[in-house]
Amino acid sequence: MTTSTVLVVEDNHNNLKLMRAVLEFAGYEVVAATTGEDGVALAVEHPPDLVLMDLQLPGISGSQALRLLRSSPRTRSLTVVAVTASAMKGDRARALDQGFDGYLEKPLDVPSLPAQLREFLGRKETSS
Ligand code: MN
Repeated sequence: MTTSTVLVVEDNHNNLKLMRAVLEFAGYEVVAATTGEDGVALAVEHPPDLVLMDLQLPGISGSQALRLLRSSPRTRSLTVVAVTASAMKGDRARALDQGFDGYLEKPLDVPSLPAQLREFLGRKETSS
């Protein structure tokens, strides 16, 4: 079984540290970026199996970064999951409307995170 790579785009140091620890413990290889621009560049260079995209980032937003990923043939079909702290009611629907493949709310539910990621990754495997 090959190791799945997860690209985490997150500007908050503590969140990034937590996500890296949880993902690595669950057996994923983690690549991290702290801006949308860097995240897109990394994804183009080495397309990951899954992208966890914070929506609120310095510079371009997570939604703008998603648009860039969807506009490039190399990264168009990536599974990209929005991660956001805002508990606004319409956020989930809006993220899915924008073309995100899923949505995770912060604070992340650490115990269930590995299972949630397996589900996102499995969805891609069955659709390709
Ligand atoms: Mn942020």
